Amino acid sequence: MSPSAPSSTGTGSSHLMPTYPVPAATFVRGLGSRLYDADGKAYLDFLGGLAVTSLGHSHPAVADAVSTQARTLLHVSNLYANAVAPDVARTIDRLLDAGEGRVFFCNSGAEANECAIKLARKWGRAPGLRYTVVSALNSFHGRTLATLHATGQPAKHAAFHPLPGGFRHVPYGDLAAMDAALDPSEVIAVLLEPLQGETGVNEAPTAYFAGVQDLCRERGILLIIDEVQTGFGRTGRWFGFQRFGLQPDVVTMAKALGNGFPVGACWARADIASAFVAGDHGTTFGGQPIAMAAAQAVLRVMEEEDVPALAERSGDRLRSGLLALPGVASVRGSGLLLAAELGSAVSTSVTMLALARGLVVNAVTPTAIRLAPSLLVTEAEIDEALAILAGALSDAATAGAPA
Ligand code: PLP
Repeated sequence: MSPSAPSSTGTGSSHLMPTYPVPAATFVRGLGSRLYDADGKAYLDFLGGLAVTSLGHSHPAVADAVSTQARTLLHVSNLYANAVAPDVARTIDRLLDAGEGRVFFCNSGAEANECAIKLARKWGRAPGLRYTVVSALNSFHGRTLATLHATGQPAKHAAFHPLPGGFRHVPYGDLAAMDAALDPSEVIAVLLEPLQGETGVNEAPTAYFAGVQDLCRERGILLIIDEVQTGFGRTGRWFGFQRFGLQPDVVTMAKALGNGFPVGACWARADIASAFVAGDHGTTFGGQPIAMAAAQAVLRVMEEEDVPALAERSGDRLRSGLLALPGVASVRGSGLLLAAELGSAVSTSVTMLALARGLVVNAVTPTAIRLAPSLLVTEAEIDEALAILAGALSDAATAGAPA
């Protein structure tokens, strides 16, 4: 293809690997809950970059922190300390409220889970060798080879065998199946999401999580909770596991921690974290001053605004508004991580129709759309999004109606 040939996607993406669906829009600017395309058309963003921009776009405190830090010190390597990371680790430890812990900083959710899996393996080396991690079917834990194997979606595995091994999957919410899978001579950890975000905002009963935690405690197995999508206020608590009164051993997080700046973290209780010694794990960029400045500003604003309370309140308004829309059969999820079940395979067309009307949502399953707006979303923005969605659902019903 000549340099000036039109792109295969029609969006100027011809030199990018074709790992994502053809994009339906190109955004050039964002402010609060709004995104703008190159023509200046505004869109209400009710997806938040897949639950990432929890303080909205271009939040001034985050933008100032990143630009100030960029003019002060971007990077020093992990051979030296920096002034910001310990403070961010301390804040995460306090918000988790799960016992004194230690934090490893990385750059993404998959890396946070890689760290958790490696830590569990190292922790499980004596006495005997245990390394199996049990996770749930329909889970999502990342795209690296180990986290892909942890991800309980066999269809996503098919093209990438051989996978690293050491993973077993059980149905989400099925305590008997978990019980049967937890052979303490082989299993070192259970890895679970408090809400399965990527595969449909699927819920499991509170009693399930308490039961899994009891099984883990009885059998000396670590409980790792993946809060990459649910963490930092999204579900109406600081962390999704807090809805179930759990005390996990390891917690992974990313997405909202940087409000768009790439930051991930793996927290472990201090006695477990001490299984790692210098040289066991590392990353060039994780925990560097620029990312830590972003996270520090994000956490400060989140605490000032009390984002869990906002997510709970706004989530109630969004949920009841969705339930009142013709075409919405049910709503699942917590806080501001919700899925509207449409009852038939129209979610892709509803998403496209909503985009045309200026609303960004996501077809999380063929029959459901996911909503994960900024936790600072206003009541007026929620009502506006509901009105746009009502129009898109009506358009879809008209398009699907027999002539
Ligand atoms: N874990 C969960 C629960 C996620 O939702 C995601 C991403 O959607 C990941 C892990 C992977 O995170 P990342 O894409 O930052 O590697």
